[in-house]
Amino acid sequence: MSSTVSESELRRLARCLAADAELQIEEQKPLAPCTSYRIGGPTAVWAAPRTEAAVQRLLEAAHRTGAPLFILGRGSNVLVSDSGWPGVTLHIGDNLSGWEFAGPAASVRAGSLWMDLIQAAVARGLGGMEPMAGIPGSIGGALRMNAGAFGREIEAVTVAVRGFRRDGSAAHIDRQMIDFGYRRAPQLDDTIITSALFRFQPEPAPVLLARMQEILRLRAEKQPLEVPSCGSVFKRPPGYFAGALIEAAGLKGERIGGAEVSRKHAGFILNVGGATAADVHRLVRLIERRVCERFGVQLEREVRLVGEFDE
Ligand SMILES: Cc1cc2nc3c(=O)[nH]c(=O)nc-3n(C[C@H](O)[C@H](O)[C@H](O)COP(=O)(O)OP(=O)(O)OC[C@H]3O[C@@H](n4cnc5c(N)ncnc54)[C@H](O)[C@@H]3O)c2cc1C
Repeated sequence: MSSTVSESELRRLARCLAADAELQIEEQKPLAPCTSYRIGGPTAVWAAPRTEAAVQRLLEAAHRTGAPLFILGRGSNVLVSDSGWPGVTLHIGDNLSGWEFAGPAASVRAGSLWMDLIQAAVARGLGGMEPMAGIPGSIGGALRMNAGAFGREIEAVTVAVRGFRRDGSAAHIDRQMIDFGYRRAPQLDDTIITSALFRFQPEPAPVLLARMQEILRLRAEKQPLEVPSCGSVFKRPPGYFAGALIEAAGLKGERIGGAEVSRKHAGFILNVGGATAADVHRLVRLIERRVCERFGVQLEREVRLVGEFDE
């Protein structure tokens, strides 16, 4: 992707933003360490706001300059290009995390780790999310992706979402306004999520804890969690499982450079050592081609590609 904003304009923007005490700014920050894949080049400008007001100021400034904007949560569902991101990466992570519980409800900042929130809820005897235990990533990323597992998605506990539009205007979106679907939440596509309100179901904590531990055991049994990945690369095609199709196409263990189709779960492409984004992307395209030729099924990507790729 070629940016319409010059490098000198981006440097000027970075210097201007760095004067804001509530914004942590870096230039040319490598993104690989910020992703679960451990892959990706640098972002021209990295911005980690410490307050919601700072998120708004950053958005207004980026909007004014026309700088390309990418929102990064915990980086567990992205493949960042080897050439990186030629604009501003707005990181909603540790700086914007934490929650307040009130009875069965919780107001949660979007950078909080999904798994930390589930554990806190379970300890209070609040259920509804424990089937999703073990999904890495932030609350913001989970809402945007409508993350889910074992028949449960984050929409089930969502009451409202707060944040900003890309121009910095405030957004408050009630659950009823969001057409959540399988790994999609279209009304959130252009929202920078900063917090959300959830409501849980009271249940005895030991019951919830046992259920959560069983889910974590099943995940560890089925998924190659010890090697860097983005989880399932593809969505589940109607009537099939992506992993089963990939395996039946003879691609289990297939390797390009440092990227390998997992032998444990063929829906995962692993970074088995020194993989580039181009390696992973080539393997993604090989799988798409082969599965389409063999079974006539066009796989849809769940992983989000960030930056420039040769399609
Ligand atoms: C080992 C492993 C297992 C996984 N298992 C599952 C699973 O069972 N089920 C499942 O659904 N997913 C799974 N995933 C994928 C991933 O964990 C989820 O999609 C997660 O919700 C992404 O959150 P994140 O904070 O890491 O988002 P990121 O990867 O940082 O971003 C993902 C998308 O969300 C957007 N985004 C992130 N934060 C915000 C925000 N605050 N506001 C607006 N947009 C935002 C980004 O721009 C991007 O488009 C797995 C991943 C791994 C590595």
